[in-house]
Amino acid sequence: MEKDEGYSSGDDAPGLKSSMILNSSNLSFGDDQNAYKKDKACNVCSNSFAVMGSSKKHYCKFCFRGVHASCSKHKAPDRSGKNVRICDRCYQKAIQDQVKDNLQKELDKVNVELEEIKKNMNTEKDQRKYESYRRDGLERKLEEMKVENTRKENELNNQSERLKKELKTMEEDIEELTRILASADLEKNQRDEKIATLKQEINYLQNDTQTDIDKITDLKRLIEEQEKENESLIKELNSHTDISGEAENPLSRANLLDNLKQKVSHAKDAQKDLKKENDNLKKRLASLREENTSKKAEINKFEEGDMQRKRSMSKMTADIKELETQIEFQEQEITRLQEKLNNSRTLK
Ligand SMILES: [Zn+2]
Ligand SMILES: [Zn+2]
Repeated sequence: MEKDEGYSSGDDAPGLKSSMILNSSNLSFGDDQNAYKKDKACNVCSNSFAVMGSSKKHYCKFCFRGVHASCSKHKAPDRSGKNVRICDRCYQKAIQDQVKDNLQKELDKVNVELEEIKKNMNTEKDQRKYESYRRDGLERKLEEMKVENTRKENELNNQSERLKKELKTMEEDIEELTRILASADLEKNQRDEKIATLKQEINYLQNDTQTDIDKITDLKRLIEEQEKENESLIKELNSHTDISGEAENPLSRANLLDNLKQKVSHAKDAQKDLKKENDNLKKRLASLREENTSKKAEINKFEEGDMQRKRSMSKMTADIKELETQIEFQEQEITRLQEKLNNSRTLK
């Protein structure tokens, strides 16, 4: 029977290279722990153990197959963690498994990272989708706001236009009223002038009346004087008649009498004329008084018209004041609306 180091000792396999890089999880064990006993040739190089005397039969503590020492130069931890002989075949397989495992681990790691990246990408995609949706919403809102602003702007422009028109109409009204007022003023002046003329005329008429009255007084005085003279003449005539018995020239007396009679007759005629003239003057005075009364009535009528004119003028002034207040209010309104318009433009 050949001597077997691995089989006989079962120790820590001194002289073998330690394989610390091998992970115990990659090491597998054979089912039959006595498998090496039937092996006549090395399980790694297939050479018979009997060919060379120095090629002693050892066995792998993992696959339990017979191997040369030169075909099992490594050791690896067994189930108890002890470093024992491992054949090159098991060693290679373990290394391959380990590499495979490591690769698998790397692959898993890469896959996890990939998953993470995919997740992140999806999250980013969702984020972008949400942002795009939000941007679309904002753009739509912005568009709506633009439309609304345009509508408001148009509305304000229309309002402003309408107010400007109203203002213009009011200005025209004021111009018209100012014109009416000016023409009323002119008419009033003309009436004042007419009244002044009429007053002057009345003064002239009153002066004329006074002159007529003076004339009548003079005539009355003249009549009185004539009557007195008449009386004295009659007295003289009577005294002459009383001394008719005296021796006087009857012719001269008759002549004197005739003379006197003629004078009396003249005086009577003059008196008649004076009375007639007096009557005429009285008639004229009456007509002048009538005329005076009618002129006064006319003046009163003019003055009444003047009062009415003054009243309507003060009403017109009040109307203008009211319109001016309205215009001022409208101007303030326009200023306010334009400010609003400017604000909405600035917002845009
Ligand atoms: Zn061998
Ligand atoms: Zn082995």
